[in-house]
Amino acid sequence: MEAQRLATENARSANLAANDLTTRARAAAEVAAAHAPDVDLTGRFPTEAFAEIRKQRLLGILVPQALNGEGASLAELADVCFVLGQACSSAALIFAMHHIKMACIIRHAQGNAALERILRQVVSDQLLLASSTTEGQAGGNVRASEAAVEHEGDEVTLERKATVISYAINADGIVTTARRAADAASSDQVLLVLLKKDYTLERLQSWDTLGMRGTRSEGFTLRARAPAQQLLPQPYEKIHAQTMVPHAHLLWGSVWAGIAAAATAKAQAFVRNALRHSGGQMPPGAAHFTQAASSLRTLRGVLASSLRSYESVMSDEKAMASLEFQSMITMTKVQVSELAATTVLHALRACGLSGYRNDSEFSIGRLLRDVLSAPIMINNDRILANLAMTSAMTPLPTSISG
Ligand SMILES: Cc1cc2nc3c(=O)[nH]c(=O)nc-3n(C[C@H](O)[C@H](O)[C@H](O)COP(=O)(O)OP(=O)(O)OC[C@H]3O[C@@H](n4cnc5c(N)ncnc54)[C@H](O)[C@@H]3O)c2cc1C
Repeated sequence: MEAQRLATENARSANLAANDLTTRARAAAEVAAAHAPDVDLTGRFPTEAFAEIRKQRLLGILVPQALNGEGASLAELADVCFVLGQACSSAALIFAMHHIKMACIIRHAQGNAALERILRQVVSDQLLLASSTTEGQAGGNVRASEAAVEHEGDEVTLERKATVISYAINADGIVTTARRAADAASSDQVLLVLLKKDYTLERLQSWDTLGMRGTRSEGFTLRARAPAQQLLPQPYEKIHAQTMVPHAHLLWGSVWAGIAAAATAKAQAFVRNALRHSGGQMPPGAAHFTQAASSLRTLRGVLASSLRSYESVMSDEKAMASLEFQSMITMTKVQVSELAATTVLHALRACGLSGYRNDSEFSIGRLLRDVLSAPIMINNDRILANLAMTSAMTPLPTSISG
């Protein structure tokens, strides 16, 4: 019996090693890229990409091995987002949003049996989880909820006006913020994990946008009844600071870096092609390719440095709560989103009219429309305004490396 278990384990490990994450991510990216133009044109969920993502069993990679997952690191996950981001922005962002919620559950379930069952189910059935934080007219103020959970015996109920839930119709579950109780302050929040059987959705708003059209981020009235055990045991305040914000900023950032890398690759191909056809004469926008490559390098540098900082404090609650860390991880989103948009704009200028056209192999249009969602996905101006007081009070550095 034990020998059989070991043989199965060994076969599984060998199989995983042979199909390493990058290879599996590339297989999913290939399918995603083939369908990205139609996903964008028709504003539909990237069905084919997610069929392949499920085939490659990528939805449960973050789950610890003890719960049958692969225990992938955040850096590995960020690389998968980067690879997918180069292929189909919407599929990549959906993949990132699923994993941000997964990280919150994994890091804050604290041995809760119902939540661990759900994590196992994500691995076995390759469930896709969506996220609901935006509510009513409050927009991206994630740290305030209007609707409250109500306890009825062993269950909780919730009804919220969820003005934006990406891929809600295609998801197998939704992870939502809510006020702890009807008499709690708006910032006293909980995080509730819902499976499809636990809720109904009534459409409030459609999703006809400039870019990220395949995320289908429609608005709904979300009505839920679920076992109270599906509430995360820790307050959302803690989950937000320790897991939600760092994972969101690093994984969204990796997707945007992927979009920027795709645009830069097109610009390079355009410049090389132009060189070949003009007897070595550089096209007029060539300097913009150099600038695209340079800002992409800076963007990857910011992401890599923030990722390393987060990994070094991940298990240190005090360090994660420090103003220094919170400001750094918050500003990562602002910097990375601006750099991604700048990179794509440079790529467009490098490709000139060929980049501006929709019917050219060097077209940058879709990438530009998609990346322009980055600075407004939780508006950078809102983030900067929130940080203004902290920045004013934080001492400035006195050395280069300190
Ligand atoms: C591609 C994409 C995917 C997303 N996916 C999700 C998701 O899955 N789940 C989720 O919860 N959220 C999602 N969001 C929403 C996101 O989290 C933010 O809520 C959203 O970007 C708004 O951010 P903001 O409030 O900072 O910015 P803004 O939109 O710039 O500002 C919003 C503010 O404007 C005001 N306002 C907004 N609308 C009105 C109105 N009609 N009338 C009057 N005032 C108004 C309000 O004061 C509000 O606080 C997504 C956003 C994008 C771009």
